[in-house]
Amino acid sequence: MARELQSRREELGELLAREEGKTRADGIGEVIRAAQVFQFFAGEALRLPGERVPSIRPGVEVEITREPVGVVGIITPWNFPIAIPAWKIAPALAFGNAVIFKPAELTPASAWALTDILHRAGTPPGVVNLVMGRGSQLGDAIIQVVDAISFTGSVRTGRRIASRAIERMVKLQLEMGGKNPLIVLDDADLEIAVDCAVNGAFYQTGQRCTATSRIIVQKGIHDRFVASVAERMRSLRVGHALNSATEIGPVVDRRQFDSNLHYLEIGDHEGASRVGGTILQGETPGFYMQPALFTETSNAMRINREEIFGPIASVIPVDDFEQALEIANDTEFGLSAGICTTSLKYARHFQANIQSGLAMVNLPTAGLDFHVPFGGRKASSYGPREQGRYAAEFYTTVKTSYVRP
Ligand code: NAD
Repeated sequence: MARELQSRREELGELLAREEGKTRADGIGEVIRAAQVFQFFAGEALRLPGERVPSIRPGVEVEITREPVGVVGIITPWNFPIAIPAWKIAPALAFGNAVIFKPAELTPASAWALTDILHRAGTPPGVVNLVMGRGSQLGDAIIQVVDAISFTGSVRTGRRIASRAIERMVKLQLEMGGKNPLIVLDDADLEIAVDCAVNGAFYQTGQRCTATSRIIVQKGIHDRFVASVAERMRSLRVGHALNSATEIGPVVDRRQFDSNLHYLEIGDHEGASRVGGTILQGETPGFYMQPALFTETSNAMRINREEIFGPIASVIPVDDFEQALEIANDTEFGLSAGICTTSLKYARHFQANIQSGLAMVNLPTAGLDFHVPFGGRKASSYGPREQGRYAAEFYTTVKTSYVRP
């Protein structure tokens, strides 16, 4: 798997760009990530640990082993149509499960390409099964025949899947939305803070569950920070996904585009000031928009409470670190959060007290390693973590054996 993904990264990266609209470079990066994930879990298959421990009863041996869960339903979104299926399918297979894979309606070609490679790599017939169609029609049917569901997508769909799955006591892992904060303190390195904000909020057209959407900025650095971000935004090159100069591709489809524009209206009505957000005409038809930054916003505004999933972020001014942390945690979500500061005291306090699954210090809220756990808290996630060694928790079930030899 890993070898073929690596050797076809250019071609598959272009397919991703054509289908989803991410830049070709991001598409290639995603294919390489999928290859790394398969390679990592090929090793994990041989490293699955068990335990043998003494019993409280003489002459008895106790063994704790891990077994496959069975058939796993894998339901995925359109924004990382090769990497997300890879980080679910690879551990599922490594630990001995079969898979029913239901990709998002918007990205069937990427899903087909991945499954085709899996089949040609020698997975036995019936072990990896691709089913295409509308989630609302296929979802219930999948839940009826699987032993576990690993889902990534919106909170609304996740809730629905959970309520159906629980009727059959199906094991669940849900990765959902975010409203990820980035705190910028007065003592931050301005260049790093601007990089983190622009990359985290706008790259990949803001269509990442870990994208920065609330930038919580202390008053002393506020004006310089906003001016620098606005300047960087003016130089961002939005355009065709296959144009090598493009930094930010189009919005994925008309529905998401209309939703983004609707949130711009909501923010304007709520009284926020705004930089950017204009609709752009590309050389070819497409849903192109300039990234948008709302300023002078409060955390109570809808634009700061609901996931937008587009290249739109808000600045919330604050007096001090304590207020920043309180606002960062005041959300129904808890996926990723970041802080830009040169103070070890604040960085450590943030790390210990932020209510999120991922905590970033002087780094964007998006951008992850593949060998360590991924997931969130509150409405962002449910069930065991994904990725790295922690993936074994979901894709295996524990058996405790008592033996009198
Ligand atoms: P979505 O919830 O609309 O769809 C996700 C998947 O669920 C699709 O395959 C869809 O067909 C399927 N689905 C829809 N209705 C279903 C039902 N009733 N039963 C079973 N399956 C059903 O999400 P989307 O628009 O594809 O993706 C965007 C969302 O995904 C955002 O909210 C984003 O934050 C989230 N996301 C989260 C992560 C994460 O790891 N936390 C990563 C990427 C995206």
